[in-house]
Amino acid sequence: MKIGIFGGTFNPPHLGHITAAREAFALLGLDRLLLIPAGLPPHKELPAGSPTAAQRLEMTRLAAEATELGDRVEVLDLELRREGRSYTSDTLAALKAQYPEDELWLLMGTDMFLSLQTWHEPERVLSLVNIAAFGRRAADTESSFAVQREYLCRTWPQASIRTLSIPGVVEVSSTELREKLKAGQGSDLLAPAVYGYILREGLYHTGADLKHLPLEQLRPVALSYLKHKRILHVLGTEQEAARLAERYGADVEKARVAALLHDCTKKLSMEEQLALCAKYGIRLDELEQKALKLLHSKTGAAIARDVFGVDDEIYSAIWYHTTGHADMTKLEKIIYLADYIEPSRDFPGVDELRNVCYEDLDKGLLKGLEMTIEEMTAMGNPVHHATVEARDALKG
Ligand code: ATP
Repeated sequence: MKIGIFGGTFNPPHLGHITAAREAFALLGLDRLLLIPAGLPPHKELPAGSPTAAQRLEMTRLAAEATELGDRVEVLDLELRREGRSYTSDTLAALKAQYPEDELWLLMGTDMFLSLQTWHEPERVLSLVNIAAFGRRAADTESSFAVQREYLCRTWPQASIRTLSIPGVVEVSSTELREKLKAGQGSDLLAPAVYGYILREGLYHTGADLKHLPLEQLRPVALSYLKHKRILHVLGTEQEAARLAERYGADVEKARVAALLHDCTKKLSMEEQLALCAKYGIRLDELEQKALKLLHSKTGAAIARDVFGVDDEIYSAIWYHTTGHADMTKLEKIIYLADYIEPSRDFPGVDELRNVCYEDLDKGLLKGLEMTIEEMTAMGNPVHHATVEARDALKG
């Protein structure tokens, strides 16, 4: 197996890192990529607004998902966990011990490559891995690397070095980006979920007021809560909810907010869901205590209210988006259906359901509820009583 290793401070990880990682993966024909946030000296005073190790780890995870390499990319926290000084050579030795039969490639940009001889134990580094160096700027051409490559190979004949030219290289550094973020700029140089995480955690002096976020900031913040594969669904739900709200004269902005936040706790485990239920005093019936899918709507509503200050109308639209209930409000119906029929949904009957939803909201809702009940029954899953009550109320 060919394994790429890409380390960095990732403070924060930006589109330059993501593009380089993805393109180097393809150019080298890698099977796996390991992203390794570097440990910072534990006693070093970091400026205010700096992320903790856990926050850098989470940002790197979100950036890893944005490479779209799926489960071929993994983020390792071994340097963050290491006490005392952290050297690349030690990390590489640990990885070589873990992957003795595999071909390891250490990826690095121009700055790192040009200073390799000044690292701790360069000889050991070069004996453990192959080096793949790439430009951080379009102007970093082969000639920028040739002299250094020749020098390294002459000094350490075991060195194996390949230089890559990254298509669409993004010319940015974390240092520049931190300054931009402080000045309210820079979102275009980050994966949306990483930018959202930065806003949510108030890093780099972004100072956003989470209770009054404009939609263009709430959107990336909402994405930062999701697994990457769910992003398309949530953005689709937002679009669909806005369309339905326009069609039926509901508040379009509220529909967008509810849609963006409706799945904000979906990726949490049962244990984490139950901890949130305890925190927010959410009482659960017998079925809800076992069904993860039924919990996220309730914990999601609680987070939407507590963290983002949503009003009661949005709160209940999120709360009921999985089960529905008898006598639903217009916004509750819109979120329930938008979640069901948004453009990325693809199941037998979805087009017909879409048509009915735009002809008559209640007819669409009844059809949606009936389809859910039918599907749950066919799979042998218990149907929540609120869903049955919602259907019966509409049937009159
Ligand atoms: P800082 O400005 O704080 O030095 P940085 O942007 O250089 O940060 P690091 O986390 O230190 O980011 O970099 C990790 C690795 O990513 C290094 O090998 C670096 O050369 C490479 N790298 C950084 N920015 C880019 C970029 N825009 N394109 C390609 N590679 C990059």
